[in-house]
Amino acid sequence: MTAAQNIYRIIREHGPICRADLHRKFRLRPATVTRITAGLIKKNLIRSYGKDAAALGRSPELLTINESAFYVMGLQAVRGAIRGGIVSSGGDMEACSSLALPEKLDNRRFLSGLRRCALDLAKIAEGKRLKVAGVGLALPGEVDWQTGRLVQAPVILPGLADADCGGCLADALGAPVTVDHDAAMITVAERRWGGSRDCGSFGVLFIGHGIGGNFMVDGKLFRGARNRSGEWGHIPLRRGGALCRCGLRGCFEALASIPVIENNYPGKMDFGKITALALAGEKKAVAALTEAAGYIGEAAAILFDILDIEKLVITGEIIAAEKIIRAPVLESVMRHSHSKHFPGREIISFSRFGQEVGVLGAAAASVQQLLIQGGVETGA
Ligand SMILES: [Zn+2]
Repeated sequence: MTAAQNIYRIIREHGPICRADLHRKFRLRPATVTRITAGLIKKNLIRSYGKDAAALGRSPELLTINESAFYVMGLQAVRGAIRGGIVSSGGDMEACSSLALPEKLDNRRFLSGLRRCALDLAKIAEGKRLKVAGVGLALPGEVDWQTGRLVQAPVILPGLADADCGGCLADALGAPVTVDHDAAMITVAERRWGGSRDCGSFGVLFIGHGIGGNFMVDGKLFRGARNRSGEWGHIPLRRGGALCRCGLRGCFEALASIPVIENNYPGKMDFGKITALALAGEKKAVAALTEAAGYIGEAAAILFDILDIEKLVITGEIIAAEKIIRAPVLESVMRHSHSKHFPGREIISFSRFGQEVGVLGAAAASVQQLLIQGGVETGA
């Protein structure tokens, strides 16, 4: 790590901080601090945070990280498409794009679509004069985050096996690539840019076509021994209940995922329409959503009891129905959780990222990786 990267890291972890503290607390020579911070300010990587009003005598200038100093590309593979965006290191989406995938997939077809989507976005970024420092890719299924390979995703991306997604993107863009499971990346985004910035331990529950999630424990993403943590959709909630696509019965996903809610409406209906009807007060629509909310609260109560997390963030397509399900989810958590007392904080929240949560997740993980590894050009 160069001296500039070291100072950048200290300011990120301990800032806002004044120059005097940089040499007092971290034993850096005053001349080095002055020279390097001037270089970092010139490169727009750090900025003034104003004067330290609490200091005695002449108040020194505090320095902090400039969160919008650089840009990354976030990509997400979903059923039938690749979505992507150019995102600032402060979490603002500057441009987005998507590409439809062919119906019949294999490694070659998927990687060629991925490459094309990435190159299209790179061109958009170039047109806007945004320099892309890194790229993140969010994948469903089983992902080897250390090698950047998609091991398999039989439900959402059938036909793919051991696909070198990280290698494909590194080759196309020549930038550092971060590949991970989509739920893990979404959890990182909630902590970095979402409503959980001050939360050390929280869970993220994704409810869409499938159900999954992940957890942050003491400020760290919890991966489990085999990087399989968060397979929440297949915990059994009803013995002998509805058949799940995994082959078992009564899984959480077989009771509360979006297709199940659509099927539970008499005569079957699109989720968007069910939500609109429920908001207008139609009883059958309210009933279909409230039933799912009961299961969501029941599954959430298990997590609260096992990990004693501070809160749970609900994300995915389900958030469109927030107004209808918020109260019944909370009521169900309180009914099923052993802890009846949650002082001082809202224990259930809904993500404010909307449907682009996966792209933002991939971008957040890339930003995090660049900052940790000092991969952002900090040389002074
Ligand atoms: Zn299942």
